[in-house]
Amino acid sequence: MQTGKRIGIVGGGPGGLTLARILATRGIGSTVFELDEHRLSRPQGGSLDLHEDSALVALRHAGLEDGFKVLARYDDQGDALYDHLGALRFQLGGDPSGGRPEIDREQLRTLLLDSLPPETIRWGSKVRAVEPLSDGRYRVAGEHGSLGEFDLVVGADGAWSKVRPLVSSEEPRYTGVMFVELSIDDVDARHPDVAALIPRGKVSVVGDCLGLIAQRSSNAHVRVYLMFRVAEDWLRHGEVDLSSPERARAALKARFTGWAPSLLRFIDVSNDTIVPRPIIALPVGHRWTHRPGVTLLGDAAHVMPPFSGEGVNMAMLDAAELALGLSEDSDWIRTVAAYEARMFTRAAEAAAGAMEGLDFVSEHALAHTLEHFEAIQRMAGAPHP
Ligand SMILES: Cc1cc2nc3c(=O)[nH]c(=O)nc-3n(C[C@H](O)[C@H](O)[C@H](O)COP(=O)(O)OP(=O)(O)OC[C@H]3O[C@@H](n4cnc5c(N)ncnc54)[C@H](O)[C@@H]3O)c2cc1C
Repeated sequence: MQTGKRIGIVGGGPGGLTLARILATRGIGSTVFELDEHRLSRPQGGSLDLHEDSALVALRHAGLEDGFKVLARYDDQGDALYDHLGALRFQLGGDPSGGRPEIDREQLRTLLLDSLPPETIRWGSKVRAVEPLSDGRYRVAGEHGSLGEFDLVVGADGAWSKVRPLVSSEEPRYTGVMFVELSIDDVDARHPDVAALIPRGKVSVVGDCLGLIAQRSSNAHVRVYLMFRVAEDWLRHGEVDLSSPERARAALKARFTGWAPSLLRFIDVSNDTIVPRPIIALPVGHRWTHRPGVTLLGDAAHVMPPFSGEGVNMAMLDAAELALGLSEDSDWIRTVAAYEARMFTRAAEAAAGAMEGLDFVSEHALAHTLEHFEAIQRMAGAPHP
């Protein structure tokens, strides 16, 4: 079904691409503006667990379930919890029949991109602003002029959305928790002692206001997040000098003094790509009054701390609900408003849980995380209602 209406999607992340794909399968064209110059212009990050009640539902509506199954790592669903002295405190899951299979972020993006007509994506299109026109449509403005005019503009452009100011004056704020991302290459062949700590899936380690999560991706690659509480401008104080990876690793290790040497190996053997990631969030329950012709999805609407692994899952479910609504109801104002109402409720609940996850980097982190793991295990063992 071609509606004759034009849809502009700002941002070609998992949310924006899922929206474009599901619309395309229902005969509705759209244009995605993505600031990356091309699909390989930057690494896309680590492994994602996709949940059966959100992202996997979206992939089914997108007709990409079979493609996903080929790439997914069903046996990487486990999570081992260690204390900072290296003692194993809990072993969660690992059951390949679980409902949270893993996929590399890059593979997910490729799956979605390959499913779209190539003319859908406008690479190298950094959106500067979205401007209302007198006839109710919107102009998407790039760095060098207009990128087009649309009946509906969807902001799928992440935490620092250029579309959000049309509906909300809120901005994400720093939560006080800093992640520093490290990467380990070819772990099985080159670092068997580290590989033995993370034979599959994920490893979580908690200490006093310090945390570490290591995640396996495909090809024996491991992504490590070091976590601590510092001021937002911490990097400028010079503790960690990113121009010298060797010195940066030494400074980061010093922060983790007292941790078991076996755990500090995650830092020792990491490569020279060291990326600070301040954890930011929009207020829990962020919402706006519906404005015809514009909406948001994913991080643009509800960026939250990543502890519960809901971000991509929420973004893809938002996209699926919006796409299905637009394809089933010709009254777009009504359908977008209805999508927003459902999304606000769902996102508020997920964001509240994600904010609680910040306790992973706190004085009572071990007790809190143990409780959390036990609750997950109880739920996994509970009979389906
Ligand atoms: C350290 C860390 C770890 C995480 N781990 C997980 C996890 O394990 N599981 C999980 O579910 N979530 C995780 N998340 C959250 C997850 O990354 C996001 O929730 C998810 O990527 C949101 O998808 P999105 O499509 O809404 O936005 P994004 O993925 O941010 O995509 C936005 C897209 O818009 C483009 N863009 C931005 N600005 C513009 C512009 N002005 N013009 C044009 N294009 C633009 C960007 O280049 C990007 O391609 C993590 C986040 C962090 C910080």
